[in-house]
Amino acid sequence: MAWDFSTEPEFQDKLEWLAEFVITEVEPIDLAFRSELIYDKSHPVHAELIKPLQEQVKAQGLWACHLGADLGGLGYGQVKLALMNEILGRSSWAPSTFGCQAPDSGNAEILAHYGTREQQDRFLKPLLDGDIVSCFSMTEPQGGSDPATFTCSAVLDSDEWVINGEKWFSSNLRYAAFAIVMAVTDPDVPIYKGASMFLVPTDTPGINIIRNVGLSGEPLGEGTHAYVRYENVRVPAENVLGGPGQAFVIAQTRLGGGRIHHAMRTIGMCQKALDMMCQRAVSRTTQGSLLASKGAVQEYVADSWIELHQFRLMVLHAAWVIDNEGGARARKEIAAVKVATAKVMKDIVFRAMHVHGSLGVSNELPLAGMWMAAPIMGIADGPTEVHKITVARQVLKQYAPSPGMFPTFHLPDRVAAAREKFAHLMDNEIANNPI
Ligand SMILES: Cc1cc2nc3c(=O)[nH]c(=O)nc-3n(C[C@H](O)[C@H](O)[C@H](O)COP(=O)(O)OP(=O)(O)OC[C@H]3O[C@@H](n4cnc5c(N)ncnc54)[C@H](O)[C@@H]3O)c2cc1C
Repeated sequence: MAWDFSTEPEFQDKLEWLAEFVITEVEPIDLAFRSELIYDKSHPVHAELIKPLQEQVKAQGLWACHLGADLGGLGYGQVKLALMNEILGRSSWAPSTFGCQAPDSGNAEILAHYGTREQQDRFLKPLLDGDIVSCFSMTEPQGGSDPATFTCSAVLDSDEWVINGEKWFSSNLRYAAFAIVMAVTDPDVPIYKGASMFLVPTDTPGINIIRNVGLSGEPLGEGTHAYVRYENVRVPAENVLGGPGQAFVIAQTRLGGGRIHHAMRTIGMCQKALDMMCQRAVSRTTQGSLLASKGAVQEYVADSWIELHQFRLMVLHAAWVIDNEGGARARKEIAAVKVATAKVMKDIVFRAMHVHGSLGVSNELPLAGMWMAAPIMGIADGPTEVHKITVARQVLKQYAPSPGMFPTFHLPDRVAAAREKFAHLMDNEIANNPI
């Protein structure tokens, strides 16, 4: 019997240290500094506050735990990472304090797998040390969910690739030292075989940011998601990662990890919203009794706890499948978790806001900011609808058509077969519960 829900005592100690550290040392940074600054390494908050905290994290052996031992990480695996990330999810600054923030964690994996030694020395090492940030540049303005619409191209010109085209929502490009850019290298085959990934240092001429798009609530022009035009951007031939045509193999490795890491952190955000909901329920009185005694509020609390618990088990199970069978075998689980992430966030945060009344929708609680995270979780790294298609396809793959005109579960034939099988016992019996 290998089923087990316990945490090793030594790792539980680490988690307790981590929880205390995040609450006392990192969450105050969320209250003082805008989250956009997480990626702006030139801001003094990094040298003065974040670096010393990162040193403490390294001393605890909890730095950059997303990387396997073969890639220079600690080889903790996804289940341990899930247990860590569900605490880190409480704070916007926590992932970068622990060296596992998106999109750098995924980009580090790409460079570790596909970069040359020289590229790793120049970009992977400082990325892992937390000294630079990176960008993943795949989505195009005419369509993100359908890569067949992508037109940004790269053409080999003697010993250099020349990249031309536009990308949309290239997060943190304005702060990044390098971008991993997807471009079409063979337009004569389907995009899934004809696209490649390029390592593009951001000091290369021709990277022209048209504007930095912000998320709702951020002032116009001050966002971090670049609408960018690559104009005759030249990179050396060896900057095509993994070889021409490998873009989607690489993207799947990276995006699969990214999706489940977002889900892990969402557990932390939802737990925070549930904590707020419950505290308000046992604090606020209306019409002579506590909110906690009202049936509707009890239903909010119960539904939220149940949904969060289901979601957490689902995320941990998906993490376990990745650890035990590999990411490629966990496609259905990862896609299902991705779909559930936005829904659980939306439902729990909505209820938490509601229980707080006007305060819940005000700018004096973090709930309204968390509320925006729900649709973001449903769109970033691919929309819910597309991930549902993946789940459905994976589930349907396990089924064959019924052999005859009627379904295998059609009762008349099954009942007749059962009666024939048990004929010697059922002279006077007529089953009334055929299932
Ligand atoms: C906060 C944030 C950060 C991001 N960061 C990055 C980044 O760093 N790099 C990057 O390359 N991209 C990034 N993206 C872009 C993201 O990957 C795309 O937004 C996403 O893939 C959807 O593409 P789209 O926005 O063009 O929407 P569209 O492709 O236009 O889709 C719009 C809607 O159409 C519906 N839809 C789409 N396909 C189907 C379907 N097959 N069946 C049914 N309905 C469907 C869905 O409702 C979907 O939301 C980021 C997005 C966000 C929100």
